Amino acid sequence: MLALAVRSLVKTYPNGVQALRGIDLEVPEGDFFALLGPNGAGKTTLIGIITSLVNKTSGEVRVFGHDIDSELALAKAAIGVVPQEININYWDSVLNIVTTQAGFYGMTPRAARLRAEDCLRQLQLWDRRRDTGRNLSGGMKRRLMIARALMHRPRLLILDEPTAGVDIEIRRSMWEFLREINQAGTTIILTTHYLEEAENLCRNVAIIDHGQIIERGAMAGVLRKLGAETFVLNLREAVAAAPQLDGYAVARTGDHEIEVEVTKDRSLNEAFAALTAAGLHVVSMRNKSNRLEELFIRLTARSPRPG
Ligand code: ADP
Repeated sequence: MLALAVRSLVKTYPNGVQALRGIDLEVPEGDFFALLGPNGAGKTTLIGIITSLVNKTSGEVRVFGHDIDSELALAKAAIGVVPQEININYWDSVLNIVTTQAGFYGMTPRAARLRAEDCLRQLQLWDRRRDTGRNLSGGMKRRLMIARALMHRPRLLILDEPTAGVDIEIRRSMWEFLREINQAGTTIILTTHYLEEAENLCRNVAIIDHGQIIERGAMAGVLRKLGAETFVLNLREAVAAAPQLDGYAVARTGDHEIEVEVTKDRSLNEAFAALTAAGLHVVSMRNKSNRLEELFIRLTARSPRPG
C-alpha cells in the first residue's frame, strides 16, 4: 500500500510563480521519507497541497489510496501534520490544545482525554498539561505540535522542519521518538535542512529543486553521490605543521586543529589510525561544510535551470 502517491503535480501561484512543475512521488506505507531541497524549492507548497492548505493547479494526490479531490475527509483523517511555524494558541492550556484538536476529528471528550494523556506523556509534556502555550520553551512548543498531530492516530505523519531552532539534546530525543513511532507503523515524511537528520532517520529521500524532483532513492545511495568531505579535527597535541597522512590532503588550521579531506574511496578510520601512529589524538571532529548544501550544489549544477 502506498501512503502517498503524487502524480504530475503542478502549482502555479496567482502571482505567476511556478512552485511545482510536475512532481511524481511515491512513499510506501511504513517508510521514513525525507524531502530535501534548498529554500524556495517547493517543499512547503507540496506539503500544503497534500494537507489541503494549498490548492493545486493540476495533478493528483492520493493518501492511502484516497484522492484529495474526491475523498478529502478520508485523506485528511489519515494525515497528521506538524507545520514549520509554531501555531499553537499561546493562551490555551497544553491539555486543551490537544483535546480541541481531537474534537476536530470527531473524537468524544472522554476518548480525547485518554488519548491526550498518552500523547502528552510520550512527548514528556504531561506534567506541563496545565501550563499555557506561551509558558513553554521552544522545544516544548514543537513537542506539543507533534502531540497534537498524533491525537487522531494518523497513519501518515508529515513534519516540516521539525527541529529547526531546537537544541541538540531535544533534537536527539525527538529523533528517538520519531524512530519509535515509525517502528510502531506510522509512515513519516519530513522536510529538513539538516542532512544529518535525514541521514540518521530516513530510509528514502527525494531532493526537490525549483519545483522538480532532481534525485530520489535510498538515502545511502543518494549520499554516495557526495564526493570528498572535509573534516575539521581538534587534536590534543599542538602541531607545528600539517601531519603527513598517506592518501589524504591535510592542512593545519590552528595549533590544535587540522583539516583532513576524505575522498569517497577512503575511510576516516585509516586517517585516525595514521594520526594515532604519529602520536596524535583526536579530541573532537566536525564536518567543515554543510554536506546538504554540498549535495544541493552538486545536484543542482547538473539539473536544467527553468527558463
Ligand atoms: P520551500 O518550502 O522549499 O522553501 P516553498 O514551497 O515555500 O519552498 O516556495 C516555493 C516557491 O513558491 C518560492 O519561489 C516561493 O517564493 C513561492 N511561494 C510560496 N508561497 C507562495 C504564495 N503564497 N504566493 C506566491 N508565491 C509563493
